[in-house]
Amino acid sequence: MSTENRAEAIIDLSAIEKNVKHLLAQSSAPALAVVKANAYGHGLVAVARTAVKAGASWLGVALLEEALTLRAARVSAPILAWLTPISDDFVAAIKNNIDLAIPSVSHLEQVIKAAQSLQLTARVHLEVDTGMTRGGALYEWKELVAESKKAEMSGAIKVIGVWSHFARADEPGQEFNELQRNNFEKAIEFAKQSGLNPELRHLSNSAATINDSKSNFDLVRLGIAMYGLSPDVKTMGSSEKLGLIPALTLRAKLHLVKEVPASSKVGYGGTAETQSDTKIGVISIGYADGVPRNADSSAGVLIGNKMSPIIGRVSMDQFVVDLGKESQARAGDWAYLIGGVIGSDKGDSYTSDTCYTADSWAGACGTINYEIVTRIGPRVKRIYLD
Ligand SMILES: *Cc1c(COP(=O)(O)O)cnc(C)c1O
Repeated sequence: MSTENRAEAIIDLSAIEKNVKHLLAQSSAPALAVVKANAYGHGLVAVARTAVKAGASWLGVALLEEALTLRAARVSAPILAWLTPISDDFVAAIKNNIDLAIPSVSHLEQVIKAAQSLQLTARVHLEVDTGMTRGGALYEWKELVAESKKAEMSGAIKVIGVWSHFARADEPGQEFNELQRNNFEKAIEFAKQSGLNPELRHLSNSAATINDSKSNFDLVRLGIAMYGLSPDVKTMGSSEKLGLIPALTLRAKLHLVKEVPASSKVGYGGTAETQSDTKIGVISIGYADGVPRNADSSAGVLIGNKMSPIIGRVSMDQFVVDLGKESQARAGDWAYLIGGVIGSDKGDSYTSDTCYTADSWAGACGTINYEIVTRIGPRVKRIYLD
């Protein structure tokens, strides 16, 4: 007997390929594909391979373990890891040819030690804080540059890159972006005067790549847009407007359908009530899988041609939707939380041209599409379409 998954995230790799090509065409610089956090929930290794095939020259991750997973899967493209606590295994990083971001002199010291113990040269990208006030060196920049120059002379490191990160790139025309770019240029100038010669200066994320060609420098770091999502729907418009194709479809099985009377209180806390006699559907995915508990009825599922809103609170493994009295939906049908009905599931009578999206879920609980896709948990099976 064949069994079907309870919940699936279906990843259209050809959409990712098209998005990478579309973004590369808008950039004067090559691209680093950002695949941190399980490739924004889309699957680390499959997405990394696809991005490289589509023309990305580099891969970027937050954690060293993400980089090591890519190397273990025989991904050979250059990889930069930028969130490596000073207790990390820099020996493993250097042995596996992983470039390391350096935000402070303490980090630099640990990486130098690891390189010396191996008698190898560590490849590093110095991180400067240009105004976001999160990662990177601020007052310490001059010392970091000076210590890096010394370590480069000794052969312990090679400074491959200098980089920083925008705080407000998703606000086109925002002056703060110019201020950050100016600070970045000054930091690079200082590094050059100190005898460093980084071949890769990189500053832009997806939003800056789309909005601000002056910030491309030698490499752009593409995250959210590569997955087909808009960096900010309000300020930059929808995926469609940006020419991007959302790559992820999320669906779960309709577990139960039943008729209920008007004024039934639904779910924990009885926070919602049916308005009339109706059918409710129990969807077999919940907050343990990443569905936000506080999503309101502006999110829901598409079953067949019909959008059915959430009613009541999302539970750990399930939530309830209002299917409507006339619904033909049956237990075992697929309910689509993100994206339109796909494949053979469409049937002959399928005509719907609307669906719920990562953006509608974000709107339904006051967050951003980034959080909706990255929080999809490990119980949800990933399926890849080429
Ligand atoms: C996550 C991340 C990116 C990608 O940002 P998007 O907005 O998803 O394009 C780029 N650079 C760094 C350092 C990041 O942490």
